[in-house]
Amino acid sequence: MKNEWMYEKVKERMLRYAKVDTQSSRTSQTTPTTAKQFDLAGMLFDELREIGASEVYLDEEHCVVYGKLPPTEEALSAPAHALGFVTHMDTAPDASGTDVRPWVLENYRGGDIVLNEEEGIVMEEAVYPQLAQYVGQDLILTDGKTLLGADDKAGIAAVMTAAEYLCLHPEIRHGLVSIAFTPDEEVGGLAKDLDLARFASPVAYTVDCDWLGYYSDETFNASDALLTVRGTSVHTGTAKGIMVNAAEIASEYIAMFPQDEKPQNTEGLEGFFHLVAVKGDCEEAMVWHIVRDFDSGHFAEREEMLLGFAERLRAKYGAERIDLEIRPTYRNMKEVIDTVPHTVTLLEEAFHAAGIAEPVRLPFRGGTDGSALSHRGLPAVNISAGYENAHGRFEFVPVQSMEKNAEVLLCLVEAYMRRTDAG
Ligand SMILES: [Zn+2]
Repeated sequence: MKNEWMYEKVKERMLRYAKVDTQSSRTSQTTPTTAKQFDLAGMLFDELREIGASEVYLDEEHCVVYGKLPPTEEALSAPAHALGFVTHMDTAPDASGTDVRPWVLENYRGGDIVLNEEEGIVMEEAVYPQLAQYVGQDLILTDGKTLLGADDKAGIAAVMTAAEYLCLHPEIRHGLVSIAFTPDEEVGGLAKDLDLARFASPVAYTVDCDWLGYYSDETFNASDALLTVRGTSVHTGTAKGIMVNAAEIASEYIAMFPQDEKPQNTEGLEGFFHLVAVKGDCEEAMVWHIVRDFDSGHFAEREEMLLGFAERLRAKYGAERIDLEIRPTYRNMKEVIDTVPHTVTLLEEAFHAAGIAEPVRLPFRGGTDGSALSHRGLPAVNISAGYENAHGRFEFVPVQSMEKNAEVLLCLVEAYMRRTDAG
């Protein structure tokens, strides 16, 4: 009965949210990066009020939606029983989010899936072998022309449904459950405008990993770096002894990077340097790259290495010609999560209670809003939302994964309610 209710609720919500275009922008300088994210923010604001959440608030300046389920009794008002959920409203700029037409393939039988008959767009099992594990389930799919946006609307659907369930069942005891929906995660927003005082929970979970049953308490340390080379351009016929070719110096710099420490040659806990873009000519050249490592010590060594490369070029061509700017972007959340180990043990407990016997903990080879939130003082482990093939036209989410996810969140709230080991 409960499961049927949850199934219908998460499905209806995902289909409704998917149709709202909330694509964020990498180039915009506004907050949020696209005004259309307010369309979903407004919907979620209304919905939180309808389900009976308290202190529902829409921050009109930063496009953040808040809501709370207050503790059900005085005895549960201690911070030890409080937890929060943070999910993002935007979708990735990598694929179109306009005119999304989600549809449900019931009882998937296995094999290829025709997404768009007219245009011959097919999701092939050979290319996406993970399809096999969803045989018998009901898949929400795209028409092959846009992304689905289950990243992270599947997360929002699960959080909203779990919250509604708690509102409808006042007999279920719990501490504070705080909810926030944020913009611009996909473009490095890092939930920077989430007001921690308003959020009021000492810990949180982002619900934004992909396949069901996976979570992550570890992310990269990350920085961006920009090398600028100033050359001297002169006619090639009279260049001898005068010309300094900035583009060539940029190539020299790129060649210094260790060949085996690139994204295409690394996995697991290995870090890397990644060349993002190069632009240049004889007069001026710029090299953008990013540095990633899980280990803080190794990360610092990588940054030192870059500075060393730039120093070699300065010594060779003159200090005035070479600038290297390194900008930190986010840090591994693990060192913060390790100070609140219950955020992981209670999550494992919740997975087990919801029937997921072997949840998988994986270091996330990227950053999440949780990396930044953790270092701002809100430890935030990342739980899967259930989607697959995010950021592309073959994105999909099984309804059963979202339904199970809502159950995991309810079990987590219950685990915090039962908590006795801290004040
Ligand atoms: Zn996401």
